[in-house]
Amino acid sequence: MGCGQSKAVKITRSRVSIQQRFSSSSLELLLPTSFVGDISKWYSFGPTLGYGHYGTVRMARSIYHPEEQFAVKTVSFKRLGTTLESIRREIAILFSLDHPNIVRLFEVYEEPKYFHLVTEYCSGGELFDKLVSSGHYHEAEAASLLRKVLGAVAYLHSRGVCHRDLKPENFMFESGELKLIDFGLAAKIEERSIEELHSQVGTAFYVAPEVLKGAYTFKCDLWSVGIMLYLMITGVAPFPGKESEELLNAISMFKLDQNAEVLSRASPLVRDLLAQLLSRNPDDRPTALQALNHPWFNSQPAHEHHLDPVVLFSLKRFRATSRLKAAALNFIARRMTVRKMQGLASTFSAMDTSSNGTIEVEELKAALESAGFTLTKEEIEEIMLNVDLEGTGQIKYTDFLAATLASKSMLSDETIRKTFTIFDTANSGFITRSSLIEAMLRTGRQLTEDESAGIIAEADVFNEGKISLAAFKQVLRQTC
Ligand code: ATP
Ligand code: MG
Repeated sequence: MGCGQSKAVKITRSRVSIQQRFSSSSLELLLPTSFVGDISKWYSFGPTLGYGHYGTVRMARSIYHPEEQFAVKTVSFKRLGTTLESIRREIAILFSLDHPNIVRLFEVYEEPKYFHLVTEYCSGGELFDKLVSSGHYHEAEAASLLRKVLGAVAYLHSRGVCHRDLKPENFMFESGELKLIDFGLAAKIEERSIEELHSQVGTAFYVAPEVLKGAYTFKCDLWSVGIMLYLMITGVAPFPGKESEELLNAISMFKLDQNAEVLSRASPLVRDLLAQLLSRNPDDRPTALQALNHPWFNSQPAHEHHLDPVVLFSLKRFRATSRLKAAALNFIARRMTVRKMQGLASTFSAMDTSSNGTIEVEELKAALESAGFTLTKEEIEEIMLNVDLEGTGQIKYTDFLAATLASKSMLSDETIRKTFTIFDTANSGFITRSSLIEAMLRTGRQLTEDESAGIIAEADVFNEGKISLAAFKQVLRQTC
């Protein structure tokens, strides 16, 4: 049955969630349990950007560097009810993610009645609003957006995270990049575990039929991507009805009619991909990586990205000579806005040809060769060792940014000074063991006293027992 696909149903903002009950699926809490701090010491608040179920999102500026804008999601304990588990889960998951198409969580502040999540500010608005204002997308444009959506989803799933609330309201733009936000309903499942999720969560309009039955896996996210693609291509909703029994019934019964009038101008390939994503049986639905390999993507003209030899050269030269340098570069890289990156985000995506969100040895080799660097196996392995500081065998997004930011002259005196003030939490003119612990805690890493002392000692070029701005500059500029 066609389920009313020939009827043009207007897209409406779909904020009503179905039953919000959280499963206690195995989540390793990667975080210290509390982050105490007074956010007003560091940020001043501007206009409200949006409202959610549990709180408000406001624009904020750094007090010390007012040119830097952030989005702060403030969640009130009262609204959360008796359990703080859901917000802790959102924080833990967001801190563990590192991908060009996923919003960055910078810091968290806990106050007696609120949690404040300081995230990257997405100035370009929601994909939802773009969709509503443009009606629908040309297939080439839809393919370029969907590639990013699926890249983010493939990355999440490979890290054991199921988002469970994918919808155009939760994708935002920043300087042309698409960013997935709102991990309030995300769940972490052990990798390769066949454990099924049981809580019926999500936004009614985008929710997969098996979620309504109460037993599902990662594949539920692919259904939501299918609904998003349908909206992008047709500009209308696939279901009649509002958020009600009628809608939920329509979802449970849905079968895509590839010959529906509303799809008459869509190419056969996109119709095939839609039919696969909107398979009622999740086993017939492709994974995100399989969907990325659908021939529809190759049939669409893609924007060619030429790899910049200067960036690749700096990757080749990179050495993190001390842990403080590594931590500082990582910090700068994590906070770098897309606007300041001057194309580094798209260089990373272009090098990640398998779209799994990391760069493997083979991908690094291919990129270097395309830029004219012919290296031996040992030389390539050495670059991997220098850039991949945790020794995982893969270059993560932030590692890549940290290793290449010098090539774009982003390591200016001003940037170094700003970073110093963040590590000098007591504003004493020095980075000390305790200020280092405090600064790292705010970014989700807990250092022991011994670790902190070791890091300071390693970078203590002037033998002061603490790090002055001059010493910090020297450490950051050391090349070997
Ligand atoms: P819900 O679950 O109801 O969707 P929520 O409480 O989880 O909401 P978010 O979805 O994270 O909250 O944010 C609510 C709205 O705030 C978004 O739809 C968006 O319009 C705005 N917003 C959120 N994050 C950002 C950001 N980083 N930059 C700009 N605006 C944002
Ligand atoms: Mg949202």
